[in-house]
Amino acid sequence: MTYVISEPCIGVKDATCTEVCPVDCIHPTRDEPGFEEAAQLYIDPEECIDCDACVEVCPVDAITPEEGVRAEWAQFTQINADYFKNG
Ligand code: SF4
Ligand code: SF4
Repeated sequence: MTYVISEPCIGVKDATCTEVCPVDCIHPTRDEPGFEEAAQLYIDPEECIDCDACVEVCPVDAITPEEGVRAEWAQFTQINADYFKNG
């Protein structure tokens, strides 16, 4: 399983979630290449340990467990995973 960042992050991208993730699996962080260009932040499904820490700190409730992603945002599970496929 994994957690997924959905549409509400777009345009907000405040990176609060990156400060609380214990395994640093949310990217890009503010100090990584690509942060300015990124539409949103993404969770690496291979690294996420389903700890729930990021959910509470997100100001726009963009983060949910994979099975909790709203139907209209279903594509975001793949969008998050794809971010990590090509580096
Ligand atoms: S659920 Fe935990 S491990 Fe997964 S992205 Fe959120 S803070 Fe990181
Ligand atoms: S805390 Fe929420 S809005 Fe902020 S970067 Fe993370 S997912 Fe996006």
